[in-house]
Amino acid sequence: MLARPDILNPTLYRLLDMFRLNKVYVRGEGNYLYDEEGRQYLDFIAQYGAVPFGYNPPFLWEAISAFREAGIPSLVQPSVPLKASELAQKLAELAPGELQFATFTQSGAEAVEAAIKLARSATGRFKILSCENSFHGKTMGALSATGREVYQSPFFAPVPGFEKVPFGDIDALEEVLEREAGEIAAFIVEPIQGEGGIVVAPDGYLKAAKELCHRFGVVFVLDEIQTGLGRTGRLLACEKEGVEPDILLLSKALGGGLVPLGVCLSSPRVWNEGFGRLHSSTFANNNFTCQVGIAVLEKLLEDEGRLLKEVEAKGEYLISKVEEIQSRWPGVIKEVRGEGLMVGLEFSDFGPEDSFDMIFLSKQGGFCPLISGLLLNVYGIRCAPFLNNPMTMRLEPPLTVTVEEIDRCVEALDQICEIV
Ligand code: PLP
Repeated sequence: MLARPDILNPTLYRLLDMFRLNKVYVRGEGNYLYDEEGRQYLDFIAQYGAVPFGYNPPFLWEAISAFREAGIPSLVQPSVPLKASELAQKLAELAPGELQFATFTQSGAEAVEAAIKLARSATGRFKILSCENSFHGKTMGALSATGREVYQSPFFAPVPGFEKVPFGDIDALEEVLEREAGEIAAFIVEPIQGEGGIVVAPDGYLKAAKELCHRFGVVFVLDEIQTGLGRTGRLLACEKEGVEPDILLLSKALGGGLVPLGVCLSSPRVWNEGFGRLHSSTFANNNFTCQVGIAVLEKLLEDEGRLLKEVEAKGEYLISKVEEIQSRWPGVIKEVRGEGLMVGLEFSDFGPEDSFDMIFLSKQGGFCPLISGLLLNVYGIRCAPFLNNPMTMRLEPPLTVTVEEIDRCVEALDQICEIV
């Protein structure tokens, strides 16, 4: 018997019910999920980037079997954890600059929390600066750094000490850093705002932001929790500009879609004794989850980064195909944004000449969920419904998506644009 899904979060499941997104998936294999009736669904969400190789990739289960056969203990604090040390070493070698200290976490938000504590303890300053329209997670510190009021207001967030600047506006950043010189501990930013609707930082912004941060003694934190580890066709999005952050945050793909794992990587410039002595967590430095993280990195880098090159090519293909749809239906799709396999489609605002239903749905936040429901139930394709961002649909398939699967999704979107 299937468990009642609505027992987890009745509010969410009511919404999913409304848009017929309420599937119970009983099997996942490769780029597909299967419901209890055996119907197959092509996945174009990949848990917002956290399922990089599709469902149950055999190479990860092999890594897990090897761990079991070797009898390695998972949680061995306080001591030197074998696999956590190995993963930390690999990350330090891969990351740009001198990010040689690794603080492992169970989620992205927790990695953000670690960054906030590290920056405050390193600088002795209180304020954390982040961007409007950003998303950094939903624990209290990460939520306060998040630049979307919709997530904050019922919870009395932001807590004191958090301030926002417009994303991509270097003059605004300079103005705040100058005005509040000596008070700001860190500036935290995403290279591409994911939850904010796939908004790519303007060229040169990250590099200029880092220079400004250093001029004012501010820790520069890059949140690559969603963009990191292959999503943009590069191992890290920041490689495009060759930016070396003081702190780099990773999670999602690092766990290979199987385990909860995040990391806050930091440079000697910010690492400090106080943080090292006082920051800890029961499930951190978990040899089991880190064994998965090691296998993830090895996969991404095998055959001289073949998979990354494929992601770059498939990403360009996906964007060009979606742009073709946009030029065919300019009244429906306003803008296409993204890099690699992280693509956002912003739908047009509906005006008086459009049908009452469309205007109603777009104003009520139901437009993207409606399209997601159509894609799912008519075409068997799962796209991110964006319940909190109704006019932008995210396409973030597993990195293993094929060109044929991209074609299938694009054709379905084309037909839907014709209907609306
Ligand atoms: N930072 C970014 C850029 C994210 O996209 C997310 C999650 O979507 C987070 C932080 C929070 O990660 P988690 O949901 O694992 O707490």
